[in-house]
Amino acid sequence: MPGTIAINGTRLDKVHMLVEPFSKGVISSLSYPTSQIRYSRDEGTLRLVLPADLSVELYRIGILPQDVNIPVRISIGGRPVGRYIVNDVRYPTQSNSPFGQVTFTLTRVLQRKARSAGEQPLSQPAAAVTKTYVTDITYYLDETGELAQLPGPARRLASFLTLLIEAATGAPSAGEHDSGIRCMAKACRGTIQTSLPPGQDEIYWRCQACGHNGVIRSWKNTKWNQLKGIDETGAC
Ligand SMILES: [Zn+2]
Repeated sequence: MPGTIAINGTRLDKVHMLVEPFSKGVISSLSYPTSQIRYSRDEGTLRLVLPADLSVELYRIGILPQDVNIPVRISIGGRPVGRYIVNDVRYPTQSNSPFGQVTFTLTRVLQRKARSAGEQPLSQPAAAVTKTYVTDITYYLDETGELAQLPGPARRLASFLTLLIEAATGAPSAGEHDSGIRCMAKACRGTIQTSLPPGQDEIYWRCQACGHNGVIRSWKNTKWNQLKGIDETGAC
């Protein structure tokens, strides 16, 4: 089956669509032969030309996702050729395509390497950063309580977090306190505010300029905790 194409494991020539019955009680369905399902592929681009009703059906049954950021797995002739996102859909003009074909352009997405929790993308443009970084500082420490040997981005994040622990515990405040520590987000010139409400186990931090923010957990028994020895209630 050299000409067959499948999206997320569903062969397009095997998609059966119910059609208006010829008479009552008769169930009729239609599927398109591979000759009606055309494609071309080069480098990272796949062009698919499909009958319009098949295109509708692919969206209806969820083979093609509405969210353009969700990739689909493509196989050609039963062989996987990668993951693609649909980045362009063109409808026919009456004159050049009487059969109502829709042209899809898909772009190949490269397999993203799984990120460890320590390598979160701190260098996104300021406007894109809205999520909260929930971090457990012990994840970044070795058995002696020092910063562990970590790859570059994780180490920068870990150092940043230890500075924030020092700042927050050095001037514990339920309200926001300006630590003076520079934000880690790329191209952001803001400084970080920390807050540590009394009796709380979490340090909150937030960049005043870009909104980059997070929560630090498990900081109490670290050497950066300036409250150690002062407030013995929770120590060790
Ligand atoms: Zn910032």
